[in-house]
Amino acid sequence: MDGVLAEFEGAVLREFRARFPAEPRLELAERRGSAVREQYRSLREELAAKVASVYESPGFFLDLDPIPGALEAVQEMLHMKDTEVFICTSPLRKYEHCIVEKSHFIVEPVQGSPKEAKRRKEVKGVATGDFKPSWEAEAILCRVEKHLGPEFVERIILTRDKTVVAADLLFDDKDTIQGAEPNPSWEHILFTCCHDRHVQLPAWRRRLRSWADDWKAILESKRRQ
Ligand SMILES: [Mg+2]
Repeated sequence: MDGVLAEFEGAVLREFRARFPAEPRLELAERRGSAVREQYRSLREELAAKVASVYESPGFFLDLDPIPGALEAVQEMLHMKDTEVFICTSPLRKYEHCIVEKSHFIVEPVQGSPKEAKRRKEVKGVATGDFKPSWEAEAILCRVEKHLGPEFVERIILTRDKTVVAADLLFDDKDTIQGAEPNPSWEHILFTCCHDRHVQLPAWRRRLRSWADDWKAILESKRRQ
């Protein structure tokens, strides 16, 4: 989700700059590797905790903008014949707000009326406040169901290990995805993001440079295999 559907890196930089203006920071063009915390650590040890405090703040995930074209592409994919779309996302370890807020990200773009804006406020209040994740997460998922339909709730996969999920394609900005399964069923399409654009891929691996790039051709090529 982050780096493919939601603009994580830009938000981290913006918030880091606001909270720690005197500290050195990494502009997006300087980012390397999916672990933002580790690259900040390489600047200075204590910057790792500072940058982590930015994205571990309650409410951080609520303010992420969608990546241009992402929601339209996912909606289009959803309605394509013989195509099933799931959102496979890894919650941050030790961070209970993240799961609820990631669910909220899916709700937000489809809401419009004043009544829905009021509901959205209520959701934000719930997600940023003191809560018990079990029932709160359930409440958010009910809202996803209301706005996107019951099938969409079943299309969210929260896992720390994406290798055990079965699929034909996985669009992900993390250049190397490892886990318990050494031979995942999916082909990993590297989604270009500031931190991975310099990664040299072997000839057999494919990229999607943005959602304006030809993702349909990738789906079609997979169907022919
Ligand atoms: Mg990601």
